[in-house]
Amino acid sequence: MALRIGLTGGIGSGKTTVSDRFASLGVEVIDADVIAHEVTRSGEPVVEQIAAVFGDEVLDAGGALDRAALRRLVFADPGKRRRLEAMLHPVIRERMEERARKARAPYCILSIPLLVESRNAARVDRVLVVDAPDAMRRRWIKARSALSDEEIDGIMQAQATRDERLEAADDVIVNDGSIEELHARVDALHRRYLAIAESNTAAER
Ligand code: ATP
Repeated sequence: MALRIGLTGGIGSGKTTVSDRFASLGVEVIDADVIAHEVTRSGEPVVEQIAAVFGDEVLDAGGALDRAALRRLVFADPGKRRRLEAMLHPVIRERMEERARKARAPYCILSIPLLVESRNAARVDRVLVVDAPDAMRRRWIKARSALSDEEIDGIMQAQATRDERLEAADDVIVNDGSIEELHARVDALHRRYLAIAESNTAAER
C-alpha cells in the first residue's frame, strides 16, 4: 500500500506549487479541492440529496451544484453550513480514500487545505505543512486575486494558526525564497519519502 502524505498549509502558502512539483516527479496527488468539484457534478448522488434539503436553487442550469449559490446560502447560517458539510464531507473523504487505496506505491500525496482544522478529513501517515511568512503569502495572494487586506485577514483568522499547523506537522517545507528553492526542497523531501516508504515496505516483509 502506498504511504500517505497529507499536504496542507494556509491560504497562499504555496500548496499548489508544492503539489504540482510532486506531480512532476511522478507522485500521485489526490487533491481535496478537485474531488470536491467532482462530487458536486450533475448526476452525483449527493447533489440530489443536497437539492432535496436546500431546494433546486442550489443547482445550476446543468444540474450540478452551484457552489457560489451554496456559499451564499450557508454564509451567515452555521446550522445550514453544518448540515451541508455533514452531507458533503463524508462523500469527499470516501472518494479520497478510494483513490488513496488504489494509488501506486511507494507514496501518494493527499492535498487537503483544511487538514489541521479537521483532522478526520482523511487517514494519512504523515502531515506535511507548507509554511510561508505571512507578508509573503499576502503579497502572492494579492498578485493573483482581487482580495483586499481585510478579506485576506478574515480568511487567515478563520484558518488554523501557524503554531497549530506546526504542532500537527511531521514535516515542514519552508517557502520563503524563490520558486526554484521551493522546488529543490520538494525534491529533497521526495527522496526522503521514497526512503521512508522503502523502509516501511522492508519492515512489512
Ligand atoms: P491557495 O490556498 O490560495 O490555494 P496555495 O497554498 O495553493 O494557495 P499557491 O497557489 O501554490 O498556494 O501559491 C500562491 C501564489 O503564490 C501563486 O501565484 C504562486 O505562484 C505564488 N508563489 C508561491 N510560492 C512562491 C515563491 N516562493 N515565490 C514567488 N511566488 C510564489
